[in-house]
Amino acid sequence: MGAFEGFTDPEMFDEMIGHDELTLDGYQDKASEFIFYKGSLLYPTLGLTGEAGEVAEKVKKLYRDDEVNFMRDDMVEELSPEQARNLAFELGDVMFYIAAIAGDIGYSLEEIADMNISKLTDRQHRNALSGSGDHR
Ligand SMILES: [Mg+2]
Repeated sequence: MGAFEGFTDPEMFDEMIGHDELTLDGYQDKASEFIFYKGSLLYPTLGLTGEAGEVAEKVKKLYRDDEVNFMRDDMVEELSPEQARNLAFELGDVMFYIAAIAGDIGYSLEEIADMNISKLTDRQHRNALSGSGDHR
């Protein structure tokens, strides 16, 4: 369960976000203040998979209960603001653990983001965005 799970006042939340410019590294620094577990890597990796599962669970329920058409490019228009916000909170939980894992292995989030964009750009230039394999 995320820190804002059960958050009941969307207007108050909307006022909270967007007030401060937040870089990825700024986020990582702030998020590290909330790390309470002992040790490194294992706990946040388990947390990451758990939170990714919560994202999948929310999407599953959109499919099962709300019959959202996921094949539409503009399917986001089928989501209510509350549904989108609930997914956004789960993505934040995923981000928290990604930040923690990155810190554990000595990387900043901006380094991780830069490495990923570089990898994707390279694949795009080699026309290798689709397919499989970590090192394609
Ligand atoms: Mg969560």
